[in-house]
Amino acid sequence: MNEQLAEIKKEISKKLKKDRYEHTIGVMYTASSLAMCYGADLQKALTAGLLHDCGKYCSAKDQIKYCEKHQIELTESELSMPALVHAKLGAYLAEHEYEISDPEILSAITYHTTGRPGMTLLEKIIYIADYIEPNRKEIPGLSEIRSIVFQNIDRAVYLSAKGTVRYLENGGKSVDPMTVSTCEYYNPER
Ligand code: FE
Ligand code: FE
Repeated sequence: MNEQLAEIKKEISKKLKKDRYEHTIGVMYTASSLAMCYGADLQKALTAGLLHDCGKYCSAKDQIKYCEKHQIELTESELSMPALVHAKLGAYLAEHEYEISDPEILSAITYHTTGRPGMTLLEKIIYIADYIEPNRKEIPGLSEIRSIVFQNIDRAVYLSAKGTVRYLENGGKSVDPMTVSTCEYYNPER
């Protein structure tokens, strides 16, 4: 682990609650395994994994306040679904607090919750790593995604997006339009 990464890891371990930190470390190493498999940059995968949830250092309410204060523009849908806010906020913090300037890392953090159509390899890696890391509770379809992701990452993205849409709909929650677009884009039958 390089020095910058070790430094960020120390910071993150202080900022995040224990469970969130465990999840973060799971995402970091899952992302690095996927990077090895698909030939992505290892350091970038580790860094993006380590920082992907750094926006969750405070409550959703405080995350929105921070965004208002720093002119981070939130969409209608983000304001109505505060669980989404940490992604955009995380990318901002990564850049301004953790001194990450690499646009690939920043966009992987930005899109880790909703995905987007036409993701970069690093974006897909972080999106999937967040979904499948070993500490994730067993949910329907998870073991299938874990077993195919090292053969077919696009299919894994599709199944994850579909799983998210289903989970939200079943819970009577609204679904961000970007998640729906991700699901449609990666649907092999489209
Ligand atoms: Fe997240
Ligand atoms: Fe996460």
